[in-house]
Amino acid sequence: MSDYDFQTIETRWQKRWIEEGAFEVKDDPGRPKFYCLEMLPYPSGDIHVGHVRNYCISDVVSRYKAMRGFNVLHPIGWDALGLPAENAAIQRGVHPEKWTRQNIAGMKRQLQRMGFSYPWSREIATCDASYYRWNQWFFLRMLERGIAYRAKAPVNWCPSCLTVLANEQAEGGTCWRCKNAVEQRDMEQWFLRITAYQDQLLDDMDELTAWPDRVLVQQRNWVGKSHGAEVDFPVEGKAPIRIFTTRVDTTCGATFMVLAPEHPMVDDLVAGAEDAARRREEIGKLRAQDRRARLEGRVEKEGVFTGRYAKNPFSGERIPIWVGNFVLMGYGTGAIMSVPAHDQRDLEFARKYGLEVKVVVQPPDEALDAKTMEVAWDGPGRLVRSGPFDGLSSEEAVPKMAAWALEKGIGKPTVTYRLKDWLISRQRYWGTPIPVVYCEKDGIVPVPDDQLPVVLPKDAPFTGKGGNPLEKVPAFVNAACPRCGGKARRETDTMDTFVDSSWYFYRYLSPRKDDGPFDPASVRYWFPIDLYVGGIEHAILHLVYSRFWTKVMRDLGLVGLDEPVTRLFPQGMVHRNAEVMSKSRGNTIAPDDVIGRYGADTLRLYILFAAPPELAMEWSETGIEGPHRFLQRVWRLVLRHAETLAKEGAAGAAALPPPAAEALRRKVHQTIDKVTHDVEERIQLNTAVAALMELVNEIYRLEAEVASGAGRAALREAIETVVLLLNPFTPHVAEEMWSRLGHAEGLVHARWPAFDANAAQEDAVELAVQVNGKVRGRLVVPRAAPDEEVRALALAEPRVAEHVQGKQIMKVVVVKDRLVSVVVR
Ligand SMILES: [Zn+2]
Ligand SMILES: [Zn+2]
Repeated sequence: MSDYDFQTIETRWQKRWIEEGAFEVKDDPGRPKFYCLEMLPYPSGDIHVGHVRNYCISDVVSRYKAMRGFNVLHPIGWDALGLPAENAAIQRGVHPEKWTRQNIAGMKRQLQRMGFSYPWSREIATCDASYYRWNQWFFLRMLERGIAYRAKAPVNWCPSCLTVLANEQAEGGTCWRCKNAVEQRDMEQWFLRITAYQDQLLDDMDELTAWPDRVLVQQRNWVGKSHGAEVDFPVEGKAPIRIFTTRVDTTCGATFMVLAPEHPMVDDLVAGAEDAARRREEIGKLRAQDRRARLEGRVEKEGVFTGRYAKNPFSGERIPIWVGNFVLMGYGTGAIMSVPAHDQRDLEFARKYGLEVKVVVQPPDEALDAKTMEVAWDGPGRLVRSGPFDGLSSEEAVPKMAAWALEKGIGKPTVTYRLKDWLISRQRYWGTPIPVVYCEKDGIVPVPDDQLPVVLPKDAPFTGKGGNPLEKVPAFVNAACPRCGGKARRETDTMDTFVDSSWYFYRYLSPRKDDGPFDPASVRYWFPIDLYVGGIEHAILHLVYSRFWTKVMRDLGLVGLDEPVTRLFPQGMVHRNAEVMSKSRGNTIAPDDVIGRYGADTLRLYILFAAPPELAMEWSETGIEGPHRFLQRVWRLVLRHAETLAKEGAAGAAALPPPAAEALRRKVHQTIDKVTHDVEERIQLNTAVAALMELVNEIYRLEAEVASGAGRAALREAIETVVLLLNPFTPHVAEEMWSRLGHAEGLVHARWPAFDANAAQEDAVELAVQVNGKVRGRLVVPRAAPDEEVRALALAEPRVAEHVQGKQIMKVVVVKDRLVSVVVR
């Protein structure tokens, strides 16, 4: 018997799969399809086992579905544009494209060594002009419909990456890539009008029943729809100041107003007020403070009284108008009503400047004292000191008071969103050029479709010294206007790489198509994606953008669906030494090292067995030994019998099989059932592996009893089932064992073993034994035991015998496998 020589085995089967095109698939409307997708990797150069976990999970499901008879598409590609390549160019003097292609080649080899079931003919790289030309094409369609537009706006600028960032990429004031603090700048930028789809993004979540709640919650918060009201506060001798509030029920408690220092009315309010010069100077100081620090509350709250008063339209009270650094333009209207009793920030401001506090919402079981309270009550309650609205609950008051404002012509109910349009301009080289030119005569002119793609010039200088390298390539920048033929300047901004990943999964269907982004007939067959596996960190960026993109494509008439992904499965991270495995922490494990020592199958099995796939797994050097020993144990078992089983062929067993054969068959079918459920419904791959380990133990236990004669059919079934069930997890060694068992055709073409519910049934059943209708004892008997046997056993049961003793037995009824009823007199 040969050893488990994983290196030879894995190389052999990987070669054969590629030669056979084992995972190449065609559209086949006659067959059910399964589209299994994983998030395409960024070709950074290093794959570590943290990435590999994602692909192991989707590979198991793909191979399983193929064995269930599905036409499975499980493609891979490269999210190949973006900053790291450009930074590498600056640091090492390698062109971004060269760096990227080298990394792709290396990582592709690593993935192939893992034995993933990819159709390599469909591989795409988003840095191919044949790919990004369709980014440009989509952009032009969006430009035609006003979904893409150019506007001046305060933007997030990363001074380290030297580019602007989308809001999603600058959360918490830091750059998502380099973690440096982001600055605010006013710049002309390109946007995609994702806000036109904000309600659809929310409403269509109803369709996403197989997405994890935590992802939907994050997306819902990101869109941030909230109901509120706008209310005008009249100002003596001036135009009214409009405020926005989500708590219109607290309006009678508004005892002052605060305007952003940048609010356009500030100068006018201060002008003519007492002491205007001093006030203006102090407001100027507030304006000079860092906007981001103000937004995040990292500066002390400060205010300046304008010297003017407004009228609270609900209470009729005269209230002072202040300017405060914690109010910002661009959020709401840039002016707020301050309700110190019911807003902590307002309360702190009121206490600092000695402003009035007025309680108007009474909590259910607490009496607030406006004079002494230190914590604002911002929950709901009953309205007090609110005139005609007294006694209403907050919930009742909000729509009533908003409607009252509308009726009086001083405001209206509103709906607001946190979502902002998607800023896609990047002032960097390694991205998709935005296909427009600026003509001296015609202004912004789109590049016509027949002039696409606008290709990145090869000879840009990568100095790292500020500015976009594209601006320094005259042959790129100087263009002829497509409209008038006159002098024009080509746009040098490139697109956010999240554009690339918003629709890449459509391109896999038609990766070489050059007269359209994809074939609509293929989309009809393959979509929606049945399973999408990827990291939870993409919950709001990629997974919002790609939903938006599909809706835009639908409105362009390109696809007929609202949502691209049916089921989303975010896999857990891989930790090492209790920290997330990452390059920056220096705690990564390269799959190549592990494969060299244990083989890819062991690595796959270990990753899948170590933890439930959606939870974090802790990498351990010793943990991998167990799965490796298990595979050796399976190998020895199979090889012990392979030769004789292969020779025998599938000859049926004639003689009566021994009881051990039945017990073994039972375990086999229980395991088929368990593994099927775990993979199919729950994707609980760790418990599926555990069930396989148990089955192998059971085969070892009963091996001697079924190794000869009539038991051999059960042995064959057990061994072949183990190999078939292992195939999605450890495909190389499974293929090798399958072929040694005498099967000419590979497991790539094999079917998942059929489940036999009868065989899986436990053979013992527990019966209740009644005497005159009362349960007096319990009995464990073989399933379907003859009535006579059950009757004798029941009467012999000690507690039953006790109740029968000395009496006359009138009748004994046996209800098969359920009950024995004894009637005595
Ligand atoms: Zn940065
Ligand atoms: Zn022109």
